[in-house]
Amino acid sequence: MKIDEILNENNNIDLKVKILSVDKREVTTSKGNTIYHYGLVGDETGVLSYTAWEFPAPIKTGDVVEIKYARSKEYNGRIRLYFDSKTEIILKPGESMDVKNTYREKKLQDISLKEPFVSVTGKVTGMAKKEYNKDGRLLVIYNGFIEDDTSRVRLSSFGKELENGKIYKIKGAKVSEFNKQMELSIGDKTEVFLVNDENINFERNYKIAEITNPAGSINIMGFIITLGTKSGIIKKCSVCNKPLTTGVCPDHPDAKTILDIFSYFTVDDGTKYLQCIAGKNAILPFLNIKNDEIAKYAGDIYTKLNDNLYGHAVKMNVDFIKNDNELSARVNTINNITEADIKNDIILNNSGD
Ligand SMILES: [Zn+2]
Repeated sequence: MKIDEILNENNNIDLKVKILSVDKREVTTSKGNTIYHYGLVGDETGVLSYTAWEFPAPIKTGDVVEIKYARSKEYNGRIRLYFDSKTEIILKPGESMDVKNTYREKKLQDISLKEPFVSVTGKVTGMAKKEYNKDGRLLVIYNGFIEDDTSRVRLSSFGKELENGKIYKIKGAKVSEFNKQMELSIGDKTEVFLVNDENINFERNYKIAEITNPAGSINIMGFIITLGTKSGIIKKCSVCNKPLTTGVCPDHPDAKTILDIFSYFTVDDGTKYLQCIAGKNAILPFLNIKNDEIAKYAGDIYTKLNDNLYGHAVKMNVDFIKNDNELSARVNTINNITEADIKNDIILNNSGD
């Protein structure tokens, strides 16, 4: 059989596949502890998940094997292969096999390292070209963002140029994590298609409790219920951008120092509270201070932050970031809530009831 022929429950499957991944898990049952293996197998027609209650130790990722007397069964709405004590798994040494990958379509807010390759659809923005040398060859990388109605994430494309403002379907994008956020990249085997989808809403207005993964560029509203007492002006190295506690960068002692604002506070929207950090890019426009005026406010910046943030209702655009298992936020923009926002929010609130 071929993988794309396994559509229903079947108790007598014989097929030749490549092992794409092998993971191990231990479960405790009434009979004691049991170890089982699980992962992915594929052939020229597709990829399937498997669970193996018996798995020969020498077999590893990349091996081609013949599998006899396997079963298939539906689990969580998808067909899955099961190997047990009756199943024979026979290694085919030296054989290789091309695998046709199939990727699950995901919303950008739902991507995670658990599924390393996915299919996504979204608008590409801010892509900029960068050239670099690798082993004497000039390579091109494009860095920017992709966004849908749930999130905006960083996107890198190796060699393949995408047009800003256009909507693409990207099949086989690689998922990674950088700087506590999710990222996607386009490599040699990734397929990219231009699509016409006018119905995506890029506003991304959410309640804090609705966000459970590190999603980028999310609009939230709420009350600021605490302001961190160490919020204020900090010095940073103009070369490496590191905060300087002594006033001099250990790596760049001759570099100029630049002034930044570091503020941290908690916002609560009635569904949940969220720890936020905001730098000068968010704070200066909010306080109506120009970049070259920061020094002028050195003495009373905390009072100014306290007067304008603490106890106020604000709307913010934030990137959710993952700290261990907690989500917190980096603030991109912050604004006072207007009458119109409150009306819109009430309409939104009531429409669901
Ligand atoms: Zn430095």
